[in-house]
Formats: sequence, C-alpha cells, structure tokens
Amino acid sequence: PYDVLVVGGGPAGASAAIYAARKGIRTGIVADRFGGQILDTASIENFISVKHTEGPRLAASLEEHVKEYNIDVMKLQRAKRLEKNDLIEIELENGAVLKSKTVILSTGARWRNVGVPGEMEFKNKGVAYCPHCDGPLFEGKRVAVIGGGNSGIEAAIDLAGIVEHVTVLEFMSELKADAVLQKRLHSLPNVTVFTNVQTKEITGTDRVNGITFVDRESGEEKHVELAGVFVQIGLVPNTDWLGDTVERNKFGEIVIDARGATSVPGVFAAGDCSTTPYKQIIISMGSGATASLSAFDYLVRN
Ligand code: FAD
Repeated sequence: PYDVLVVGGGPAGASAAIYAARKGIRTGIVADRFGGQILDTASIENFISVKHTEGPRLAASLEEHVKEYNIDVMKLQRAKRLEKNDLIEIELENGAVLKSKTVILSTGARWRNVGVPGEMEFKNKGVAYCPHCDGPLFEGKRVAVIGGGNSGIEAAIDLAGIVEHVTVLEFMSELKADAVLQKRLHSLPNVTVFTNVQTKEITGTDRVNGITFVDRESGEEKHVELAGVFVQIGLVPNTDWLGDTVERNKFGEIVIDARGATSVPGVFAAGDCSTTPYKQIIISMGSGATASLSAFDYLVRN
C-alpha cells in the first residue's frame, strides 16, 4: 500500500505529493487532468515571485517538479469511490483499487458556465471567472458581472475600484447578496445593476466587445458595450463521487480543520475542493503542503 495517496493533480495535489515524497514515504498521485484549472488559464500574475506566467507553462513546471521525486504518477485516471477499511481504498473508474494508509483529496473545482453564445469562444479573451486573478487586466475599461449573489457582488465591488464601470446582471428579481454588500455596492458611483434579466449573448470579434441581455418581464432586449464579462454564478467542487463517506458542507466542499483533516481519520483534503477560504493557486499549494505534513504526522502517530 501507499503511505500517502493524493487524488487530484492540480497545484494542491502536486504540492501535497512533493511534501510527502520529501519525507521518504511511499507516495502516489492520481489525476484526471494533471495541472488542473491552471491548464485553462492564460495569464497568471499573482503567483508570488513569478511576475508573469501562463497556465500551461506552470502546469508543465508542476509536473516536472513532481517527477524529480519518487512518486507514482497515474495520469488520466478518475477516482470514483472512497472506502475506509483497515486501509483507505480508492477505486478508479477503470476498476483498479488503490490502497493507502492516508489519502489527500485535492480534486479541485470548476466555475459554473452561463452557457450562452460567446462564452466559450471568448474565454480568456474578455470572459473571465476570477476577479482576484483577472481584474487588473481590465483597468480603466468597462465590464459586466453576471450573478448577484455574494460572489458576484463582492466581484463587482472589487472591480469597481479598478475598472471604469461595472454592469451587474442578475437573473432573479432581486440581488441575493448579503445586505452589507448590497449597501456598499449601491454607494459606488460607477456601478449599474439590472435585475430580472437573462443574458443572451456575449458579443465580440477577436475579443469581447459587449453583452446582450433581455428584460424577463418586458421582453425588451438591451446591448451594452464593454471589454470584459466576469461570470460569477458559482464554483462547484469536484466532490460528488465521495457521497456521504466524508463530511461536505452545503456547497459540496469537503470540511477540513486548520490541519487539513477531514471527518475520516487518515483522510485529508486541500485546495479548491475543500472549505479552505479563497480559491487561488498560492493558497491551494499552501493547503496541499499543510495536508501532507498532517498526513505524515498521522502516520508517525498511528
Ligand atoms: P484544480 O486546479 O481544480 O485541480 C484539480 C485536480 O483534480 C485536477 O488534476 C483534476 O483533473 C483532478 N480531479 C478532479 N476530479 C478527479 C477525480 N474524481 N479523480 C481524479 N482526479 C480528479 N488562481 C490564481 O492564483 N491566479 C490566477 O491568475 C488564476 N486564474 C484563473 C483563471 C481561470 C480561468 C480559472 C478557472 C481559475 C484561475 N485561478 C487562478 C484559480 C486556480 O486555478 C485554482 O485556485 C487552483 O487551480 C486550485 O488548485 P487545486 O489543486 O485545488 O484544484
């Protein structure tokens, strides 16, 4: 069996695997898409000490770093079941069952898409999902935020300090964000809010140049010219396959303590799939390291 088996090969998983292997213990990593979400990222400017990089480049460096160590790398494999017996068992979709003394779950998350024409076409060309990451790219420009929940309104407030103007589009007849956030939003001079509207299309030529939406009551169609659209309608953790085996919160995030421990002894979690606040590369790597050191501590004590 493995001493540490990591499930997920994004920044959190790569970090966890390297920290485990550096203890000289038997380490494996199973990843569907090695690299994770950063494979879909054009420009990264907040990975501290690296002024600028591109996602696929950072993903290649992650893999190169992992391969420096004696780690069993199992790529293009998906986990479908976790079971705790004497050892912890991870069953893969191909039927294989891997056994380990400890497991680190780092299966990440995915942003929910609005599913309108233009969204896929202009991803990284004006369509963005992460205001902390891509906000500064729209300095002095006009943008829209789709989604009036807490993350949408936090994004709009954040962006209003950087960009020229923010248009907020909410499908329901009122914003769902907390009252304090709404109050702060309404105090800002460069924000316009439309409620009860449905996004129809993100328009553009080589990059985004506008957004078209429909008033759900009157049916009237509106077009606004802008340079960027931030989609903020939810981040979905990749944790459905765990069912009830490990405690998850109402968003589906795996509940962890400050050491990365889950409700199951010997099972740890890190990064975007967990309750770690703020979903960022540098934070995922940190929580991967935390989970791995906790797994090592668990092995020493058991
Ligand atoms: P992920 O990167 O999601 O990796 C999850 C891993 O688990 C993948 O290898 C996946 O294939 C695997 N996996 C999932 N399910 C299974 C399964 N059942 N079995 C096996 N493997 C599985 N952050 C920044 O700090 N700066 C940025 O500039 C930035 N820009 C971004 C731009 C975009 C478009 C997006 C989408 C995100 C961006 N982020 C950015 C956020 C950052 O990418 C994430 O916070 C980070 O990748 C999370 O790392 P993670 O390892 O927790 O999960």
